[in-house]
Amino acid sequence: MGSQENKHSELHVVLIPSAGMGHLNTFSRLAVTLADHCKVTMVSNIPAVSSAESHHLADMFSAYPQIEFLQFEMPPYDTSDYPDADPFVLRWEMISRSAPDILNYVMKSSSVPVTAFVVDITIAASFIPLAKNLGIPCYIMFTSTAAMLSFVAYFPTYCDSKTTEDLGDVEIPGYRTVPRASIPGVLHDPKNLFTKQFVQNGRVLLKVDGIFVNTFESFEEDSLAALSDGHVQPGFPPVIAIGPLMPLNMPASGASEVFSWLDKQPDNSVVYVNFGNRTGMSREQVRELGLGLETSGCRFLWVVKTKALDSQDVEDLGEILEKGYLERVKDRGIVIKGWVEQDKVLRHKAVGGFLSHSGWNSVIEAAIYGVRMLAWPMGGDQRINAVPVVKSGLGMWAKSWSWQGEDKIVSGKEIGEKVKEMMADEALSAKARLIGEQARQAAAPGGTSYQGLVEFIQELKDRV
Ligand code: UDP
Ligand code: UDP
Repeated sequence: MGSQENKHSELHVVLIPSAGMGHLNTFSRLAVTLADHCKVTMVSNIPAVSSAESHHLADMFSAYPQIEFLQFEMPPYDTSDYPDADPFVLRWEMISRSAPDILNYVMKSSSVPVTAFVVDITIAASFIPLAKNLGIPCYIMFTSTAAMLSFVAYFPTYCDSKTTEDLGDVEIPGYRTVPRASIPGVLHDPKNLFTKQFVQNGRVLLKVDGIFVNTFESFEEDSLAALSDGHVQPGFPPVIAIGPLMPLNMPASGASEVFSWLDKQPDNSVVYVNFGNRTGMSREQVRELGLGLETSGCRFLWVVKTKALDSQDVEDLGEILEKGYLERVKDRGIVIKGWVEQDKVLRHKAVGGFLSHSGWNSVIEAAIYGVRMLAWPMGGDQRINAVPVVKSGLGMWAKSWSWQGEDKIVSGKEIGEKVKEMMADEALSAKARLIGEQARQAAAPGGTSYQGLVEFIQELKDRV
């Protein structure tokens, strides 16, 4: 199948992402991958929550004219009902409430009839029943691991059967037990907005025509098998591993000094440190991390983020870091406040290790470029994601650092030792490189993930 093949133009897949760069990057990559096979429309909700999303969308509009973008202007919403809600979770809720209007808008604006919808997991419960009523096949794009999908799929059953308010270890039949400590923290509060969405979205999974996961067979074989065999949920829809979805070819953006600095470093010598687009770190922890990177003796590229939302992250490095720190480390470290093009950083030959929160996109990007990881989960699905990181051999997991329900500060000494250990581990580096080869093979023509997409397209063709 190639972009030259025009008879698939009758197929029209409409993608409905939610909010947050982790979600937008996954959908953008899916859009570009699918556009080789069919007409693709991507809906975006404006104004975007973060500046990173606004920039990404603007760049993508001009770089990928083959994709049709439909911009849906979000009605103003009152946040007073949820004063403490995470801005991204709040946006997911508001997109869900606008589902009937968004679908009307899509149906009215589409010049070509819609063959299928692909909806983000975080807004699935509101869209799927409506889209099904239109008689259009519906797929979910799951933005995390197959391991996490198993948890999401089973969690509603667990909630129905438990006798107390408290969550314990969640034993998924025929699969594995997710320890209480690995359950996303907010799920312990049944009244939390995220928890309500999470359970509703989990229940709707059984009603869809298929679920895409940005993973690949050899990376998460056990979880994919448990889902397909019906162990996790009997009658579960097809789970289609289509990863790794490849990063886009976009104009340069973000901190450019990073690349001139990386160009001067020896191969495989730099630890890249970044915790995604929505994890702010306390000033106290930032300073300990700084100390750790310094005492590790390694070269490092460190992206500092202290607030969940980039537009509120306004303090400069001089205020956040210990006085004199930048001067002390300037010969072997570069510290950035702002956006860096992570996929380009990870593919740079100077980068030899990645200290990451194990957000799923970050893990899969490390896998593509075969960069070993040290996982330091900070919340959400990240402890569950760390399991395949370790099991596959891509990286290590500093288990005792992860959140444990209390605000623990990890000392610079511990961080320094662990970073040094990762960077000295040549076997880990070799294994990560091997995973990189497997990842790229899975996504290339003939690979398992490529085949998953071919079969999806064929199924759509058979339906029209
Ligand atoms: N990202 C980036 N530059 C940054 C921070 C993040 O390019 O400075 C990208 C990263 O490559 C990934 C996404 O933003 O594709 C973050 O998604 P992930 O699932 O790793 O974590 P989240 O931000 O959702 O916690
Ligand atoms: N998730 C889900 N249902 C929901 C919300 C989240 O299944 O209603 C999954 C989704 O795959 C998401 C993951 O849980 O990527 C972690 O959620 P988090 O809030 O940490 O989101 P992210 O950092 O991915 O934006």
